Amino acid sequence: MEFKSDQAAHIDPVQLNRNSKFKFNCQPGISCFTKCCRGINIILTPYDVIRLKTRLGLNSDEFLAIYTTVHLLEKTDLPVVTLKQLDDQRKSCPFVRDQGCIIYEDRPSACRYYPLGSASLMHKEGADDTDFFFFVNEPHCKGFEEDNHWTVSQWRKDQGVELRDEINAAWTDLVVRKRSFPVNIKLTQQAKEMFFMISYNIDKFRNFVFESSFLQKFPTDQVTQEKLKTDDIELLKFGIQWLKGLLFQQKKEKEAD
Ligand code: SF4
Ligand code: SF4
Repeated sequence: MEFKSDQAAHIDPVQLNRNSKFKFNCQPGISCFTKCCRGINIILTPYDVIRLKTRLGLNSDEFLAIYTTVHLLEKTDLPVVTLKQLDDQRKSCPFVRDQGCIIYEDRPSACRYYPLGSASLMHKEGADDTDFFFFVNEPHCKGFEEDNHWTVSQWRKDQGVELRDEINAAWTDLVVRKRSFPVNIKLTQQAKEMFFMISYNIDKFRNFVFESSFLQKFPTDQVTQEKLKTDDIELLKFGIQWLKGLLFQQKKEKEAD
């Protein structure tokens, strides 16, 4: 698989923290309803893909082929996926209808955060900005004219992003640490493919774990193995831990060259 670089739109965030306050409300009667679901690039997290492929009754391969586009995340050289826009005039999200989002309970983290953005993937290792949020200030969004008051913390809780951030934390940390690698340290194609498989193609990773010599090279106790056979989240956490070892070992070896 070849991964193509795609520079993300430049964002100049105004830093918000969990106690920052804002006014906002979004409901079906609002004049801009669903405008935010058109012409937008939504980066999916590993947990988003697990939720969506389960919701749609697809395996990971099918979901990725039908609903996603692969990009290289700026300054990391790591492949990530975005939701594929429809080929209509408004470049609509495939899940938007006039009445709203048809997969609302399983909508991605980025949609839950909106109109906030989380800067977790832009964070630099060692910088004091782990709780860094910003407004996605799109002129069509009228939600800021409404009179409902929030703090960032309240919004995160209301939209159910806390659980998602917790599950994605190790993955986000891995991406952030890769961002801090010196530019001359490049990942091998094999390492990128492994990152992609574990991050987004959890069904393929399960086959890899149980149908190759993986468990002979990396012995794993029986109780853990039983969980990994059926639980996508456990398998994701296991995979990310293993991947960290692999990527940072490669970094050490290249530094020692
Ligand atoms: S543009 Fe803003 S207010 Fe309008 S539907 Fe989207 S989030 Fe809600
Ligand atoms: S997934 Fe749902 S909320 Fe997110 S952009 Fe698509 S339609 Fe809108």
